[in-house]
Amino acid sequence: MPSSPLPHRVVAIDGPAASGKSTVARLLAQRLGYVYVNTGAMYRAVTWLVMRHGVDPSDPAAVDALLNATPIEFGVEESKSTLRIEGVDPTPYLDEPQVTANVSAIAALPKVREFLVARQREYVRGNPLVMEGRDIGSVVFPETPFKAYIDASEEVRAQRRAAQGIVDNLAARDKKDSSRSAAPLRIAPGAQVIDSTCLSVEEVVDEVVQRLGL
Ligand code: C5P
Repeated sequence: MPSSPLPHRVVAIDGPAASGKSTVARLLAQRLGYVYVNTGAMYRAVTWLVMRHGVDPSDPAAVDALLNATPIEFGVEESKSTLRIEGVDPTPYLDEPQVTANVSAIAALPKVREFLVARQREYVRGNPLVMEGRDIGSVVFPETPFKAYIDASEEVRAQRRAAQGIVDNLAARDKKDSSRSAAPLRIAPGAQVIDSTCLSVEEVVDEVVQRLGL
């Protein structure tokens, strides 16, 4: 766990599935001129890789072996995190039902988390960041003073997902993400909890800016 001061400001945005945190984090990064890092996309990309190779998501050794044998490039383009797996940008496949249904199982594997958390921390070397996920304020950058936890009622979150046309069993995913032993979804100590149930995206961004003193 890094204990020295961060070289750049890191805004950590965590919260459950479909709480609106990705959109909020992206707009916040634009407003601040920071780089936006979507860590959910990283866990989804590894899940896509596992599916693509027909590896059993419940076999940690096989997933680990595949991860270690695969070239993955992490980068930044147009102030957003990017990645390429085996030379392919997996973005178009990340919301596929098979990926969404299996991502929580893959994200519960300690070796997968160790690998991705190390890559996520590397992003702070070059840029101030808005990084969103489940464990950014609790595990990835616990020392940052800028932490928000964005929540919303389960009903509103389900409506938001349906409006995106994405098949997603939110309750099952939240349960798995909150009950796993490796870096479970938690409200990090010091995080500002913002309930977005009745707020527009812009209102949530304003609230984050105000509460974190940005
Ligand atoms: O944010 P998104 O819904 O795209 O995340 C997909 C999944 O990735 C989550 O359900 C969770 O299992 C995993 N995840 C995680 N830690 C993060 C970001 C995402 O475990 N920091």
